[in-house]
Amino acid sequence: MQFRAFWRCVLAVVLVLSGGLALIMAWNTFQLRAAYTPTAAPPPPTIDTAAVRHLAEAVRVPTISLDSAGGAPGHFDQLHALMRSQFPGVFETLNAEIISDHSLLLTWEGRNPERAPILLLGHLDVVPIEPGSEAAWTHPPFSGQASQGYIWGRGTLDDKASVWAQLEAIERLLMRDFVPEQTVYFAFGHDEETGGTHGAQRMAELLEQRDVHAEFTLDEGSAITRDLVAGVDIPIASVMVGEKGYASLRLTATGDAGHSSTPSRDTAIGRLARGLARLDAQPLPARIIDPVGTMLDQLAPHMGSFNRFAIANRWLLEPILLDSLAASRTTNALIRTTTAPTMLRAGVKDNVLPSRATAVINFRILPGQTIDSVTRAVADIIDDPGVTIEPMDAFGNNPPPLSDPDAPAFHRIRRAIHTTFPEAAVASGIILATTDNRHYSRVRDNAYYFAPFVYTPDVADRIHGTNERIAVGEYMRMIGFYEALLGSSSGND
Ligand SMILES: [Zn+2]
Repeated sequence: MQFRAFWRCVLAVVLVLSGGLALIMAWNTFQLRAAYTPTAAPPPPTIDTAAVRHLAEAVRVPTISLDSAGGAPGHFDQLHALMRSQFPGVFETLNAEIISDHSLLLTWEGRNPERAPILLLGHLDVVPIEPGSEAAWTHPPFSGQASQGYIWGRGTLDDKASVWAQLEAIERLLMRDFVPEQTVYFAFGHDEETGGTHGAQRMAELLEQRDVHAEFTLDEGSAITRDLVAGVDIPIASVMVGEKGYASLRLTATGDAGHSSTPSRDTAIGRLARGLARLDAQPLPARIIDPVGTMLDQLAPHMGSFNRFAIANRWLLEPILLDSLAASRTTNALIRTTTAPTMLRAGVKDNVLPSRATAVINFRILPGQTIDSVTRAVADIIDDPGVTIEPMDAFGNNPPPLSDPDAPAFHRIRRAIHTTFPEAAVASGIILATTDNRHYSRVRDNAYYFAPFVYTPDVADRIHGTNERIAVGEYMRMIGFYEALLGSSSGND
């Protein structure tokens, strides 16, 4: 009898606790509401035919990165001359400097020297066309055709549209005799696609020498995404606040060399293969870092009830959430340092055992980790003193510090988005690739990544791919975004 009473009591406690838990979880889900209610998209903007022509003309100058096949210095000179002819007001009012022969640094003096300046970034170079893909282009890649409501060609999305939209916006503001409150720098690099060491890095050094310290930088790297996140049916303007780090580690195994007729159990290739198999079987640990958590919170109100419930209660359901994020390669890259084996080398002849075998693994490092901590984790997983692990070359960088998604500068960008893309909700997060932005970390407080074009799975295939193009209407709104951003100032919420 007593026994039964005890269990009845336990059951009651469990019911009360689980009832309480259910209430808490329901409350959390309810609390997760959208900060902004998107409205209908505005009517199509009026087409500025001169702006369309300007971008088309810019696309016709094939400013392929100089390190790539087809890059020619003359093309950059030609592009600079074109800019001067298209934007006379910009070059009359702003101070223009050519850096490292082909990059452009513009300074628009502000009214208030007390305020920190702002720094808008972009790049003039484009990636080459994949050999053999030329015939697949609807219009030749450097023909700059405007047809069927699009401007076609290499660079229309990455990144000439962004640079040209900024120039159009300045020109429009100058026509209204507008003077910005804060000084605005525009740094347009010429080698972003090959690392930015001559353009962005040099311009950042120059700004540092001049004691310039910007309130924020704004560069490409993210956009207005549509149909990209399962379950989210409205456009999301993702203004990213950080990027991942980059490192490639070289793994070298040594073993018994000699004739392949009498192999030992300790060959270099066998040893390396065992290490690689362990690395392949054990991804680096997953976790939800702050900006990704914030991003999930911002997306959740626009998702179905199950996802909303899981995100709202991730203090309890995080393992389930991590599993579902790990299932897609894109979201997996948001929650962990990724491990990508990219190069493998050993042996010179089929009947000779090589004494060395090497592999290169590329890691994209989650903020919060470093090249050193990743190297240590890899050594632990491989767990074989016969495999040496060292950074490949000197190239690599730790993740830059994360920026503040609640700084006045972020809200200024948000307001410019709401003005021009009222149908989009704003979210933050981190980008998975790298841009020129990382070079400026010593000359700014916050770095943001956003260019206001619409990014769908279809557009993703066109960037660096075939048939790159931008819709004319979207390009008009892009200009509107920079006009709204430059025409406002930070801190007047
Ligand atoms: Zn780019």
